[in-house]
Amino acid sequence: MPYFDHNATTPLDPIARETWLRANDEHWHNPSSLYRDAAKARIRMDNARARLAEYLGAAEKEIVFTSGATESVHAALAHLAAQAGPEAEIAVNRTEHSAVLSAARRWFGSRIRWLNTDRNGVLLWPELEEKARGSHAVVVMAANNETGAIQPWEKIAEFCGRHHLPYVCDAAQWLGKLPCGGLAEADWVFGSGHKFGAPKGVGFLKISSSARAFSTQPGGAQENGHRGGTEDLPSIWAMVEILAEAEHRKVLLESERLTWRKQFEDQVTREIAGVRVIGAEADRLWNTVSLLMPFGASQRWIAQLDKLGFQISNGSACATRKEESSHVIAAMGYSGDDAQRILRISSGWETKRTDWTALAEALTAVAPDLKATEATGVIKV
Ligand code: PLP
Repeated sequence: MPYFDHNATTPLDPIARETWLRANDEHWHNPSSLYRDAAKARIRMDNARARLAEYLGAAEKEIVFTSGATESVHAALAHLAAQAGPEAEIAVNRTEHSAVLSAARRWFGSRIRWLNTDRNGVLLWPELEEKARGSHAVVVMAANNETGAIQPWEKIAEFCGRHHLPYVCDAAQWLGKLPCGGLAEADWVFGSGHKFGAPKGVGFLKISSSARAFSTQPGGAQENGHRGGTEDLPSIWAMVEILAEAEHRKVLLESERLTWRKQFEDQVTREIAGVRVIGAEADRLWNTVSLLMPFGASQRWIAQLDKLGFQISNGSACATRKEESSHVIAAMGYSGDDAQRILRISSGWETKRTDWTALAEALTAVAPDLKATEATGVIKV
């Protein structure tokens, strides 16, 4: 079944699966125990940490393995809030994932300076410069989960470095899709393994080199004292192994995949009059397309395509469940009515060019019925 919802989660990659099974067979011991088999597990943990640090350009001691992006951002912002005075404000991009927005509101309440984007979902630079100055930290993602829009994170890291401002960067949708070298230029960076082929429930937070007494949760002395709790070595190892695979081999295919995405967009906009690609003029991830359909509620398109064997989405899985319309689309200046007609399509490395073509054909095939239903109000069963 062609799966086009990779930004929600990815299938377990065969390499990650094999690594996970092997680690469970060979290194199931507690890495903190004192006998030799436990030491072997500990060596594996250290090795995974060193490799991840190297890919990001970080120091090993800055890597904390966590359960994923949500835990990581809460821990990072809780720490920053505790360090800051009660008056401190942070600058936060409006199109962040709801996990990040919730953490910002939880730890900084109303002390948030909102950063706006243009119609393509890319930050307005002069505003960032102005609002970042005098704030306690800057929070801007590397790439957006709904539109794929890429933010100028390298430039933000450089700016924040110059102004001694902590920069918190959500790399959940960047990792495994594009090279991750240089991400550690941001003080705080985090990701979730299940977004790039690793098991669910494992991720990491790269902490600031100047963070003192940082802790996500008290407990044992695991993770250099930053996060208590027995580590899930099989998942950590699998996550780093699959990231290595992406770094060394997969990201080299980016330009080919960008072409496939572009061909899909051309085909759909040609075949269905009035379709618009959200963020069309921005640099976007090779795997993500957000379409504004001219008619038909998103749920109806999703249901029709599901019947034809295609799995797509209308935005962030977290927001879908709460039945909210997308805050990302609204922040980009689209109306509430537009937000009801958004389709998010996100491919994976295993997606073939023919899958993209077949999806474009399926959208074209269901369009007349959806248009007729909208005109008559009669649903065809
Ligand atoms: N940040 C982004 C950009 C995401 O896409 C997601 C998941 O959709 C998250 C954070 C939260 O990740 P998790 O649910 O794995 O904690």
